[in-house]
Amino acid sequence: MKRQGGLDWFRIPAALLVIAIHTGPLASLTETGDFFLTRVLGRVAVPFFLMVTGYFLQDRWMEGWRGIRGSWNKTALLYAGATVLYLPLMLYKGDFARENVLWEELRDVVFNGTFYHLWYFPALLLGLPLTMALVRALGERRALWAAGVLYLAGVLGDSWYGLTVQVPALKGVYDQLFFLFDYTRNGLFLVPLFLLLGSTLAGRKRRMSPGRAAVGLALAFVLMTLEAFWLRSMDWLRHDSMYLTLPLVMVCLFALLSGWKVEGGKGLAQLALALYVIHPWSIVLIRGGAKALRLSWLLVDCSPVFYLAVCLLSAVLSVLWLVIWRRYGPRRTVLPRRAWVEVDCGALRHNLRALNGAMEEGQRMMAVVKAEGYGHGAVPLARLLEGEGVDAFATATLDEAVELRRAGIRGTILILGYVPPEAVSVALRRKLTLTVVDEAHAAALEATGKPVHVHWKVDTGMHRLGVDWERLTKTVRACPHLVTDGVYTHLCVSDQLDEESRAFTVLQLERFRQALETLEQAGIRPKEVHAQASYGLLNYTGVRCTLARVGIALYGVLSGPGTVCGAVELEPALALKARVTSVRTVKAGEGAGYGLAFRPGRESRVAAVSIGYADGLPRSLSGRGHALVRGKKVPVAGRVCMDQLLLDVTELPEVKPGDVVTFLGRDRGEVLSAETVAEEAGTITNELLSRLGARLERVYKAR
Ligand SMILES: *Cc1c(COP(=O)(O)O)cnc(C)c1O
Repeated sequence: MKRQGGLDWFRIPAALLVIAIHTGPLASLTETGDFFLTRVLGRVAVPFFLMVTGYFLQDRWMEGWRGIRGSWNKTALLYAGATVLYLPLMLYKGDFARENVLWEELRDVVFNGTFYHLWYFPALLLGLPLTMALVRALGERRALWAAGVLYLAGVLGDSWYGLTVQVPALKGVYDQLFFLFDYTRNGLFLVPLFLLLGSTLAGRKRRMSPGRAAVGLALAFVLMTLEAFWLRSMDWLRHDSMYLTLPLVMVCLFALLSGWKVEGGKGLAQLALALYVIHPWSIVLIRGGAKALRLSWLLVDCSPVFYLAVCLLSAVLSVLWLVIWRRYGPRRTVLPRRAWVEVDCGALRHNLRALNGAMEEGQRMMAVVKAEGYGHGAVPLARLLEGEGVDAFATATLDEAVELRRAGIRGTILILGYVPPEAVSVALRRKLTLTVVDEAHAAALEATGKPVHVHWKVDTGMHRLGVDWERLTKTVRACPHLVTDGVYTHLCVSDQLDEESRAFTVLQLERFRQALETLEQAGIRPKEVHAQASYGLLNYTGVRCTLARVGIALYGVLSGPGTVCGAVELEPALALKARVTSVRTVKAGEGAGYGLAFRPGRESRVAAVSIGYADGLPRSLSGRGHALVRGKKVPVAGRVCMDQLLLDVTELPEVKPGDVVTFLGRDRGEVLSAETVAEEAGTITNELLSRLGARLERVYKAR
């Protein structure tokens, strides 16, 4: 996720607002002004920090604990550190001399915070796993609704508590809750909504325009001010952290800030965090110092001076702390990658646009993202495409389709392969579309009696899957329970340009047309009709379909040479890389690798590289393949092993461990295209890409 400058910068005013809440800069001047500043304006600070956290967690909720572990551990560590920092003040305040001290401490540690301002940390520690569980159980959209309901429940225990007390049963419930914690502004009620709003806004392609966000923010803020003052006049406020209109304010504020193009930086985030953690110490020190110097009348009693003094001292302490931390703190280790796939999102967008340009009027893309999106990673890919307006996807298997739904993909998801009738309920629950693969399958699906959505596959000559084209109408009519959303066929020689193949494809399309015509005569008009995959789209026009099922071309690759007649400019989106781990000399007359298959006959240098056939690099590249190192093409030396291979780098004496090796993609001027490598390996690009293994890390480059 790219850093957003606007979000980084706003952390500083947000931290200063938190300090304002705890010092009351206007308290000695105007009560109304103080209320406005600390109880209304100040209330955007914490939700803002939560939304930023959600923003950076964007796609990670679905990964479960693995996705949030980093944030959780960091928060826990900060909480522990800050608690130690405030132990002296806790002792001084007499926290440990309370009645029921164990219970009180437990409440504090888990909910209220060990020191008053520290409640944010336990709230996040609880809110992170809760939010993750919600997203996993309900999907992103419904999780957002659930979080909204929790927030409403929180509001009823916070600023709208005056309403709650009028319903005795409800008040009873809240009394029980307040036995557990002091406020509802905690990890249960406050945190999930703002985390999810942050990640939802991060995932949205179309951003609110700055002008609209600013107007929205102004309006929402006026509403929130009115709400707060009205609640105050009604004497309904039990606390004042959660207003009904606060989420609206936050969405507009966040949209405005994330659209603000400025240079940000990690330093700002660290400074804001330090200000937040340290300022209560500054408060104590200023009070104590003022008393000792007999300056309380100025430094404490005059609230704006007090506020400024606390801010100043906090800033000095924070900067000091950051300098010390950077100098002596632990160094963060970033592990160098072993073997990885780099996906160029810009190339994917380009290909999408180019292919959409090749569609006929009224035809849309059905993006084929089976087999982990041909190695590009199905979920990130589908998310990117959905953001670009793609509303139909195809997978090979039920599991692949379920994975997309669980990741929040909303469009049509068609499963191209056979799905057993036992899985109909899963398909219905996940709103998946099945392919009817033959008459027996149709009968079995019909026998479930469930209104399952299907696309009928028609066998027009490939003889793999599909109902025979002449029997389509009869079969469809025999299945009144099935919901016919679409009809399609698959072309089996559309990538071959010779006359015979062209004639066969035309025949397939003609049979398909006839099947559709008969269907229409029977009064059945499927919404979606499709026949072309990548080559059908690139090589044939006038097919008159509503969809084209595009796979390989979307990834900017052709299966092999001589497969396309048209001229659509595509850009390959995937690069495959690994690293040199060791370099050594092989003397003349010696061999290297399994079977000593590399026999150079002269003194040579070989480099071991951290990728092998278990990562999906074909073993058939042994002794035949190539890779790019330092912008030069070098041959694979001997046999590809399971997890590594050797390169002959005799011509490149400067090669050393750590060097990046490119197996697919570009290195400086040199390119190894998927077409070339597939040919060297004796296969087609589709196989090469789709077999790239789960062990490869996938890195997405925004460009
Ligand atoms: C895989 C597949 C596609 C996509 O094919 P490409 O040649 O990669 O575009 C389309 N339709 C069906 C039925 C498929 O199995």
